[in-house]
Amino acid sequence: MPYIAHPDRYTNMQYRRCGKSGLKLSALSLGLWHNFGHVDQLQNSTNIIKLAFDSGITHFDLANNYGPPPGSAEENFGTILKQNFASYRDEMVISSKAGYTMWDGPYGDWGSKKYLVSSMDQSLKRMGLDYVDIFYHHRPDPETPLEETMATLDLFVRQGKALYVGISNYQAPEAEAAIKLLRQMGTPCLIHQPKYSMFERWIENGLLDVLGAEGVGCIPFSPLAQGLLTNKYLHGIPEDSRAAKPTGFLQQSQITPEVLKQLNALNALAGERGQTLAQMALAWILRDERITSVLVGASRPEQLMDSLKCLENLDFTAEELQGIDQILAN
Ligand code: NDP
Repeated sequence: MPYIAHPDRYTNMQYRRCGKSGLKLSALSLGLWHNFGHVDQLQNSTNIIKLAFDSGITHFDLANNYGPPPGSAEENFGTILKQNFASYRDEMVISSKAGYTMWDGPYGDWGSKKYLVSSMDQSLKRMGLDYVDIFYHHRPDPETPLEETMATLDLFVRQGKALYVGISNYQAPEAEAAIKLLRQMGTPCLIHQPKYSMFERWIENGLLDVLGAEGVGCIPFSPLAQGLLTNKYLHGIPEDSRAAKPTGFLQQSQITPEVLKQLNALNALAGERGQTLAQMALAWILRDERITSVLVGASRPEQLMDSLKCLENLDFTAEELQGIDQILAN
């Protein structure tokens, strides 16, 4: 049976403007870092993407190195697109990135034009696409001149290989410099993708102010701290969890008694709001209007279904916000 998207898919999702651009993104976006590689079940990956799209998620986030093995998430996504989404391409915002190690030698990493151009071409080929909607430089490169990296992003837009460009993991001052360079080149920086969650709050000290002032969107990654900010680790480490998998980036050593104490207290607070901990953690990120979208992962459709319900309550009282801060301070 060919896939037909749900006719009501745009009814319950919110779409938020990305900075001062013309592009709106779904309040939740789906990331393919884990659970979409060759080590994973293609049918499960397909089901997650179908559920996302049927629920109004329009934005799918990839990178050259996602897998494992690196590149396989883009390959699988290309297969899923071809088999199911060929007629829906214009309803999707697909992103990719380059900036981490992808192949051996001096041209397979960081931020040179040489690396980025090859990587972009490889990504398009793996996904079977003519263009990506957003292309990011994945992390700052301390050695390559910022002008070279930004000029390459500008080139991609002029070539039609990317519609928009963004940066990821850039600290506030380097983000500001990149945004200014791109503006001078005539290609505005659309969006910044930083790590942000209740446990990781660095963007509150400068970066969000820069993005707000410059009219650049923000899409935080690992909003659930890779699954910690859910109810899954409250009673041990489930066998099929990211912390238990050899290919997962979440380390069991991060699940300390202190963290568990905080998670239990946050879970109780979420319950008082009528939410799961995951829903509260996502709503907490979307409370700031400078945040365009929150970039979630999921290892099965049920998790995404749970996360999507965060949209039913995005408001926090001052007491709730204080309560969260107090729990995190202890
Ligand atoms: P999350 O913090 O959302 O963690 C996702 C994991 O949390 C899932 O795999 C699952 O873990 C668990 N989970 C998700 N929803 C629920 C739920 N409702 N209930 C219980 N458990 C749940 O995000 P990720 O760390 O996966 O990052 C999201 C995306 O951000 C990536 O896919 C990628 O696109 C992007 N990213 C970008 C980076 C960058 O440098 N720019 C770096 C990292 C990520 P389990 O597998 O254990 O079931």
